[in-house]
Amino acid sequence: MSESLNEALKRIRRECLRVVPEKPGFAKLMATETRFAGPAYAEIDEAAPVCPVCGEKLSFVFQFYPMPDKKALSAPPLLVFYYCFKCTPIGTEKEERGMWLLKAYHTASPAKFNDGSGVDQDLTPFSCRTEKVHVLPDYEAIEEKYPDIAAMCEGEDAEDPVSVYEDAGLEIGCVMEPFTSIGGYPIWIQGEAERSCPVCKKPMEFICQIDSQQEVQLMWGDAGCVYLFQCHEHHDQFGMEMQCF
Ligand SMILES: [Zn+2]
Ligand SMILES: [Zn+2]
Repeated sequence: MSESLNEALKRIRRECLRVVPEKPGFAKLMATETRFAGPAYAEIDEAAPVCPVCGEKLSFVFQFYPMPDKKALSAPPLLVFYYCFKCTPIGTEKEERGMWLLKAYHTASPAKFNDGSGVDQDLTPFSCRTEKVHVLPDYEAIEEKYPDIAAMCEGEDAEDPVSVYEDAGLEIGCVMEPFTSIGGYPIWIQGEAERSCPVCKKPMEFICQIDSQQEVQLMWGDAGCVYLFQCHEHHDQFGMEMQCF
């Protein structure tokens, strides 16, 4: 394997948090933690969100804290993700709004927790631990944004540069398969997707990827993934993309 390719990849790899479901169950003390299913973090007097299309209550799927922005003065808020498994939105801009939802809480605390929002009996609540790992962009993004790296991969194997890239990524310790992660680069199943902010029209930033998780009974289509985005400027504007095999 070429040393210069490994060095080039080390320069663009990013740190992210891998989310690992740890223990089934829910307790109120865990209300504000990064976790799957059970009752969502919600506050007193807040109504459980309802899907505007089918009228059913939205299911709480996952909540997390995005990676802190180095320039931001305040800590990132708790983001709570709800989804309608009856309507199964995939997040296109033409879709009716409200079939999925991200709610932000800047001062979440177990003392303000209102139990019972978004509970979906088909999902198993799970506490999680997180660990720092490294990820790389998809090969598609490499061809587009780092043509010199793509050229190195083609130089090693013109027939199969993607395998060269993936092997080099593994060699420098990056995770190359989709997994539930916060921050870093998205690992696409069907290829790169972008979401633009409805307010400023600029591309939104990738903040989190929620993989299908067997232990949680969470399945996006056929072992798919959900990708979440946020506008860098308009923090209340979010995007979603669901991809599956
Ligand atoms: Zn619905
Ligand atoms: Zn914006």
